Formats: sequence, structure tokens, C-alpha cells
Amino acid sequence: MNLALKTFRYGQKSIGYRLLYVDRKTLEIAVNPDSSIVIKVPLDADIPLVEKKLKKRARWIIKQINYFQQFNPKTPERRYLSGETHLYLGRQYRLKCIHCNLNTVKLAKGYFWVSCKSKSTPDEVKILMNEWYLQKARVQFQESFKRCWPAFSFLGISQPILSIKHMKKRWGSLTKNGVVTLNLELIRAPKECIDYVVSHELCHLKYNNHGSEFFKLLENVCPSWKKIKHKLELSMV
Ligand SMILES: [Zn+2]
Repeated sequence: MNLALKTFRYGQKSIGYRLLYVDRKTLEIAVNPDSSIVIKVPLDADIPLVEKKLKKRARWIIKQINYFQQFNPKTPERRYLSGETHLYLGRQYRLKCIHCNLNTVKLAKGYFWVSCKSKSTPDEVKILMNEWYLQKARVQFQESFKRCWPAFSFLGISQPILSIKHMKKRWGSLTKNGVVTLNLELIRAPKECIDYVVSHELCHLKYNNHGSEFFKLLENVCPSWKKIKHKLELSMV
């Protein structure tokens, strides 16, 4: 196997890809979820010709990259100061930090009330809020699983285990041994967005790629996934 790292130019962009020589007759372009590009070419491929073909497909390649990048959470920095807005299940709440003899986080009347025993420094508030988000995520994500799983009962397997993590680049992932990991950030998104990400990952139990069969199944279990996907992108700002 011969794997070469190369780049090609498209307008102002320089796009890196891995070139893989394989025993096949035609060229195949694959854009992976991490936005890496692998081009499989015949053993006797003519490189200038390959580059010409890549330029022809460049728009499609960029579309694929953009498609995967939408799953990259882009929540802005929060400073954990009173007055800031924070999201929970797609709703915005204004933060109120108070000094009290208890450490608590509560949602009431459109506010996130965070009380700290010690001085309510942003670090302290952040820790309390993250703990709160994690507790809520454990419940909400499990409920989302319950809503989504019946559509996958045809697989005849037991429900995957759910894990929650801080993830930098993905909303969710599925490991080979069937653990669905969801990004804790999702707890900030509307419930239907959580269901969409869960459904997307569960579809990978059947198809380990983003081919047409995968999307057929996704369409089946979550008919409005495209609309919801946009909502997810828009709601997390
Ligand atoms: Zn996927």
C-alpha cells in the first residue's frame, strides 16, 4: 500500500488529501467525518489527470467538508458572569449569580440562578453549572434514547450504552463495541436536536458510513432531520 500526502488548489483554498494507490480501475474520493480526504486511484494513475479530476469534483468535496463541519460544536466562550445568557434544551436563560450559604443551580422565571457558598467567582459558577448540565444530560439523553430506540428495534440487538463527554469536534459518536457517546454540549440544544443526533448515531449501528443507505434509514427514522440539523447549527450560538 502506497499512501502519499498531497494538496491541490481550488480558488484560494489549498486542500490536503491522501493519495492511495490500489488495484482498481477508477478513481474514488472519500471525505471522512474528520474532514480528511482520501483519494483511491489505480496503480498506474496519471497524477496530472487525477488532479484535473479533483478540481472538477472540488465543489462536491468542499460541500462534504462543510457538511461534516456542521457537527463541530461552536458554542461561544462564556464568562460566567451575571447578565450573560446560557442555553438549556434550546431555551435561553439569563444568568444570576448570588452569594448564599448553599451551592445550588436552579432555573426559574427565565433565569439561571447560581448560588455559591464561597465567593461566586466565574470559575466557581462554571463548575456548578457544568455539574448541573451533566446531571440534566444524564436524564435528558437517556429519555432521548427511549424515544429513538423503538425505531431501531428491527436490528434485533440490545440498546447501546450511553456515555457523555466533552467533545471538541463531534456531537456524537459510536464506537465499534456499540457505545453511543454524546457531547455534553447537546444538553443546550432543543430536544428534537438531541433526538436527531441520537438517531444519526444509531443509524451507524446498521451502516458504518455516510452512504446513501445510511441516509435512507435516517430519513426513515427522522424524516425532518435536515430541518433539525439546521436548527442545531443555529441554536448553538
Ligand atoms: Zn455519522
